[in-house]
Amino acid sequence: MSRDMADTAGRLAERIAETAASCGRDRNTPLRFMEVCGTHTVTIFRSGLRQLLPDSVELVSGPGCPVCVTVDGYIDEAVKLAHSPEVIIAAFGDLLKIPGSAGADGSPDNLAEAKARGADIRVVYSPLDALYVAAENPGRKVVYLAVGFETTAPTAAALVMAAEKAGVKNLYLLTAHKLVPPAMKAILDRPHRIDGFILPGHVAVVTGRREFDFLKEYGQRGVVTGFEPLGILAAILRLTEMARDSLSAVENFYPSVVREEGNPVAKSAMTKVFRKTAEQWRGMGVLEASGLSLRDEYAAYDARRKLCIGAAEESGQGNPLSRLCRCGEVLTGAITPRSCPLFGKACTDRHPVGPCMVSVEGTCAAWYKYGAGKFEFT
Ligand code: SF4
Repeated sequence: MSRDMADTAGRLAERIAETAASCGRDRNTPLRFMEVCGTHTVTIFRSGLRQLLPDSVELVSGPGCPVCVTVDGYIDEAVKLAHSPEVIIAAFGDLLKIPGSAGADGSPDNLAEAKARGADIRVVYSPLDALYVAAENPGRKVVYLAVGFETTAPTAAALVMAAEKAGVKNLYLLTAHKLVPPAMKAILDRPHRIDGFILPGHVAVVTGRREFDFLKEYGQRGVVTGFEPLGILAAILRLTEMARDSLSAVENFYPSVVREEGNPVAKSAMTKVFRKTAEQWRGMGVLEASGLSLRDEYAAYDARRKLCIGAAEESGQGNPLSRLCRCGEVLTGAITPRSCPLFGKACTDRHPVGPCMVSVEGTCAAWYKYGAGKFEFT
């Protein structure tokens, strides 16, 4: 951060402190704002925003890391498919180390282990890479692991449409796409201590600001913002002002890319290829209309319907340490990673137990990487 930026950040932090104090908040009764997006979590830690904020304002992370909310049963499905010699798995690299539940009986616990044992697993950088893998391997079945939020679902939809147009018939999607607003509603439907939301800029580019207006039905507030540290601080200041004024509203601090109605092309591609379904979330169970499955018209590309595997579940089996993992509570802002007994001890960046430590956008990974020096691992 340059000196000018640091000065501006300091002034914003002072105004946040003054505003929080003016509504009677202190370290014992802090305002709690949730940053929903994993990229925000990493930016907040990397730029030291937490240290700048007064004790009267607390940030908690939400369910915005796509890998973290993926249940172990999904990884089991993928590992099972990877065992088949006719299958090539195409996946983003983050997914490879996520533990499944299959390790208890000696079978591979995750995709990285399956790959080490000979499974054909290709790391892709875009969903469309899977199409090239399929075209180059007409005698094999290529399964793309379709994980992510509204940010990646449109490109997965584009992948299916491109495969159809190109006549590629050996490409399948194993879907676990999830939608952010239903997860936020699930958090608000339960007992919580959240005073406002830093809303995910990337998701809002697709959905539009309006998609988050449901917050007003809960008497809540939110600010859509980008990923510059000053923009995030400005959003926190605005949330603090809104809390002081008991204002329930959803504002857009990222107007250069976020529109009211979102991106109509991306939304139309998602609607054409996917339908909303109930989806299993790590730590939150099954949430109605929170996931995306392929429509019947695209059943030929559906790995579950065409390659005979079971549905994803949150099993809680496998590595005994996994049963102590509290990712579910971390993802809903109920606890911080420090409340997990494994944090910094049995669970580290080198030996992650749960997905919140595996993913680069995971809350536990961010706490460990950027805050480890401050913690006492006793
Ligand atoms: S520190 Fe590790 S075991 Fe604990 S909640 Fe985070 S990922 Fe799970």
